[in-house]
Amino acid sequence: MSLAASTLSSLRRQLNSGDITARDIVQDVIQQIHSRDGEIGAFISHHEESALSAAEKADLTLPLGGLPIGIKDNINVLGEPCTCGSQFLKNAYTAPYDATAISKLKAAGAIPFGRTNLDEFAMGSSTENSAIQITQNPAAPGHIPGGSSGGSAAAVAGKLIPATLGSDTGGSIRQPASHCGVVGLKPTYGRISRYGLVAFGSSLDQIGPLTQTVEDSALLLNALAGHDPRDSTSLRAAVPDYTEGLDQGVQGMKLGLPQEYFTDGICPKVRERVETAAKKLESQGAEIIPISLPHTEYAVATYYIIAPAEASSNLSRFDGVRYGNRAEKPADMLSLYQDSRAAGFGPEVKRRIILGTYVLSSGYYDAFYLRAQKVRTLIRQDFQKAFEQVDAILTPVAPEGPSKMGASADDPLKQFLADIFTISANLVGNCGISVPLEPSEGLPIGLQILGPHLGEQTILRCARAVEAG
Ligand code: GLN
Repeated sequence: MSLAASTLSSLRRQLNSGDITARDIVQDVIQQIHSRDGEIGAFISHHEESALSAAEKADLTLPLGGLPIGIKDNINVLGEPCTCGSQFLKNAYTAPYDATAISKLKAAGAIPFGRTNLDEFAMGSSTENSAIQITQNPAAPGHIPGGSSGGSAAAVAGKLIPATLGSDTGGSIRQPASHCGVVGLKPTYGRISRYGLVAFGSSLDQIGPLTQTVEDSALLLNALAGHDPRDSTSLRAAVPDYTEGLDQGVQGMKLGLPQEYFTDGICPKVRERVETAAKKLESQGAEIIPISLPHTEYAVATYYIIAPAEASSNLSRFDGVRYGNRAEKPADMLSLYQDSRAAGFGPEVKRRIILGTYVLSSGYYDAFYLRAQKVRTLIRQDFQKAFEQVDAILTPVAPEGPSKMGASADDPLKQFLADIFTISANLVGNCGISVPLEPSEGLPIGLQILGPHLGEQTILRCARAVEAG
């Protein structure tokens, strides 16, 4: 097995025993990218020299010493371009600083390496909205890898690199993880600093790891979690060792199955796999409890008001003056902004900005934005009540497996609706993980395990039990 295809924990053991060097790992990742990423399209860019020299200097006594981690191309890495999958930033922006997640990775000895493809500004569910390139699903050729962290998921599934970072505003770590058959964790809002993550929906965004195994997810969370004075929404909670107790099993754990998530809209195969996983956990000593999340049907509408509203405000900084490619020969100042934005943003981003501006405009603010915030509170209360009864909640990640490439690229509404199972965790701020189940007809299917606020240890332990079978 190639080193790039190994897990972080096994690489750590091999490094510690002296069987391999950090340079061997980075070299193998480079070779895998050269030989196979032309077909997959997971990486937008990578910098070989700096990674090799970081490998030479790697401190193997650190928890992630010498381990290369791929980075979604909306997280700032000092000295590297950050395109956000957009023509607006392509060849127009080099990060002048490290995101806190990156400095934490570096402090733990890891080597951030390569920038992974995404839907433009993380808006989408298939990575087809990237203005840079298409990404194939290595686990299901001809199918979408999911999105928006499709490059991050495909890089791990394609065994190009052992692990990556993604960002999740409405499911963008969990859904591509599910579609590519890897593990994707969206931590509690505030668990990992957002400083240096290009903002999409600031009250929803969260960085998290995509890995081959649950143990690797925990290893990365150990390094990434913690308070950051540069992000006022980051939590002051202590950081436990997330790898501890992973194998304790689910004996005595109470797991909820929300009735609203198992309706006619869900593909029978997906439903069958999730129910089988629940039964298996029950046979291992968990108690399966039917629960209700009554406001689920409003989640999509609520998210698609709040997320675009925040995006329309966050993306105002891309104007061709402060950031991004500037239109040539504009007639006047106003057309400089207009032409730069018209040329720089792709159709989905424009749709979101228009939607967001509309719901925030006077006269519509109360009817849409304010009402959405109220419904958000109702959804939050649903989850609070549920977590009084159960330790974690089991659901599908998406109503269907990965669709064929191009099948719903022109149908944004269809894509929006498929976010139904993932967006509530972002609206509420809770944590969630996608862990692979047995594929169906060759297509990967993930199980989503949702946890309460700071319930990462619980969902990791439960995910580990699923993984172990
Ligand atoms: N699919 C959702 C959207 O398009 C979620 C995206 C994300 O989590 N970044 O908004």
